[in-house]
Amino acid sequence: MRDVIIIGGGPAGSTLARLIGKDFDVVLIDKKNKDEEKTTFKKPCGGLIAPDAQRALARFQLQIPTEVLANPQIFAVKTIDLQSKLITHYQRFYLNVNRHRFDSWMLSLVTDANVIEDARVTKVEKTAIGYDVTYIKDDNVYIEKGRILVGADGADSIVRKTFFKRRIRQYMAIQQLFSASNTKPLYASLFDHTLTDSYGWGLIKDDELIFGAALPLQDSRKNFELLKKRCEVYDFDTSQPLSTEACLVNSPKSIREIECGEDNVFLIGESAGFISPSSLEGISYALESALALAKALRRPNVTKVYKANCRKLKIKIWLKQLKSIVLYTPLFRRLVMMSKIDSITLED
Ligand SMILES: Cc1cc2nc3c(=O)[nH]c(=O)nc-3n(C[C@H](O)[C@H](O)[C@H](O)COP(=O)(O)OP(=O)(O)OC[C@H]3O[C@@H](n4cnc5c(N)ncnc54)[C@H](O)[C@@H]3O)c2cc1C
Repeated sequence: MRDVIIIGGGPAGSTLARLIGKDFDVVLIDKKNKDEEKTTFKKPCGGLIAPDAQRALARFQLQIPTEVLANPQIFAVKTIDLQSKLITHYQRFYLNVNRHRFDSWMLSLVTDANVIEDARVTKVEKTAIGYDVTYIKDDNVYIEKGRILVGADGADSIVRKTFFKRRIRQYMAIQQLFSASNTKPLYASLFDHTLTDSYGWGLIKDDELIFGAALPLQDSRKNFELLKKRCEVYDFDTSQPLSTEACLVNSPKSIREIECGEDNVFLIGESAGFISPSSLEGISYALESALALAKALRRPNVTKVYKANCRKLKIKIWLKQLKSIVLYTPLFRRLVMMSKIDSITLED
């Protein structure tokens, strides 16, 4: 029997495994493969490392290798309100990365835990002495037994769905990739309250344009196509998609939707609901919540300590919820955009 079974090797799971691997017998199970050529799963993502995530990496004394970086690095976001046709530019300090390579790099730092890649968890159950995790790898079925179970398996978490009733607001995130040859390098955020009360984005990464949006689950595909159509006037060439990807994304409406776990089942990262509801930035929260649980696992009352360690993260999310009210209420957003506060003026 293992001490800890971690499901999911995204930023949250790989960080936890790296931090506790020396002190516990840990196994991490993930459905992707670090090798870009071999993997059957890549996380759909904008791949922007926000200042908070850079800060978390700095605290861990980690430096991103250049091969993880994407081209180009962009220092401004073009904010477009599609109904009012207002456009405002703001300075941003993101790092533009290849998300699969970022995850693979973080996973490669796990040296003291067992990592099982290319393995899909299909069932998690409580037993008399711990937890059983059933997974499929190479068409074979295996069972891992553990004393503590950690769900680091993202928005569509099998651990959260199996053990916890607390619901969380979810959107369908759809992204399409296009050749970027006809689009100027940019990062854009797109607001159209008739299609979504979240937002869309356009971003150049390694000669491709990523066009994406987080949309209410109902009619998400139809509304994505409408958003694309409405953005054509802003010089997005989205006529010929190279590929389409979609996944759920959590966006907590209240901090009561966050579930940290109990009874030796814990959630970290997006599965717990740790993600900004205003920007959908989730990598910093994944790293910070993994650290919070790693520290708690060394203490006798893990549940209580983990929840206490997450207090700051919850306050941060609560503040982001307040920001969301301004960002996603058309009148407030337009007033902010028109005020030009904190904006930059582009020179020809
Ligand atoms: C379209 C989109 C764009 C985004 N853009 C950004 C951005 O630019 N910057 C940012 O900071 N955040 C962004 N986010 C949010 C961010 O991607 C997540 O919040 C962050 O990745 C959460 O990390 P995590 O480790 O908790 O979960 P994830 O990164 O989702 O990792 C979960 C892992 O679990 C594995 N897994 C899931 N289910 C199973 C299973 N059954 N069996 C085995 N393995 C399983 C998956 O392989 C995956 O590796 C975006 C999200 C979306 C959807």
